[in-house]
Amino acid sequence: MIQILQLDVRGMPQDWITPEDAATYYATNSVAWTVGSVIKTLRGGHNACTGLQSRIDVHAIVATTGASRINLFDAVPSLSNAKLFRRDRMTCAYCGGHFDEGHLTREHIVPTAQGGVDDWLNVVAACRGCNGRKANRTPEQARMPLLFAPYAPSVFEGFLLAGRNIRGDVHDWLISRLGSHSRWTNPSFKVGQHNYLQ
Ligand SMILES: [Zn+2]
Repeated sequence: MIQILQLDVRGMPQDWITPEDAATYYATNSVAWTVGSVIKTLRGGHNACTGLQSRIDVHAIVATTGASRINLFDAVPSLSNAKLFRRDRMTCAYCGGHFDEGHLTREHIVPTAQGGVDDWLNVVAACRGCNGRKANRTPEQARMPLLFAPYAPSVFEGFLLAGRNIRGDVHDWLISRLGSHSRWTNPSFKVGQHNYLQ
């Protein structure tokens, strides 16, 4: 399925939408500007006077007028396992192994049993084996140091983590707006390079 990145008029990502959703913004003159190439052309009805068929060219990124739902400074992307595992590049934070989604877990650095919260800064991807071995202990208590630090993704990164089959031009547009802390903009990210203790 083609996903269109919807922005507000200032360029803040708002949603992944379908080409049909995007077409309704074009049809109501709510598109302020676009980025990227035309990725789909939708054809509508025929004009009774001219006989011409209406046609809407939908671009990969569409900035729409109207109220913003997501602002730059107060939005933290919602936490999900799928996004967490992608943030951590499908890598276990304790053994450094690469795993598929079915073999990774959401690991609380400070265990919830010890008051740890369920947010981006207290979770990492961990394989089932490491998660079981660490159990309800902190990294220090378990003598299992983290191989990399957790971080809260920006709005732009949140959309990158949530998107599926993101087109190259949309991917590049989002990547160019990520902070330097992001693992997406740090190609030299290697497990074990940054030993990190809470
Ligand atoms: Zn592991």
